[in-house]
Amino acid sequence: MTDEEKYKFIGCRDTKYDGVFYTAVKTTGIFCLPSCKAKKPLEKNVIFYDTKDKAIKNGFRACKICKQIASLS
Ligand SMILES: [Zn+2]
Repeated sequence: MTDEEKYKFIGCRDTKYDGVFYTAVKTTGIFCLPSCKAKKPLEKNVIFYDTKDKAIKNGFRACKICKQIASLS
């Protein structure tokens, strides 16, 4: 998937790509599953990671909602 396709997908609240990629938001320092119900971030603030470890290594932490759903930490 391209970043553009990923960005289009988030906000659909579809869980099929959960675990496939993670959506990190530069302005908040938080990352989410693609299905997260949180407000859709602006495209320019989004970075996509293939694994949660990469997101964590880059200084992001899991959002409260996603943490509960997927035991992200
Ligand atoms: Zn989330």
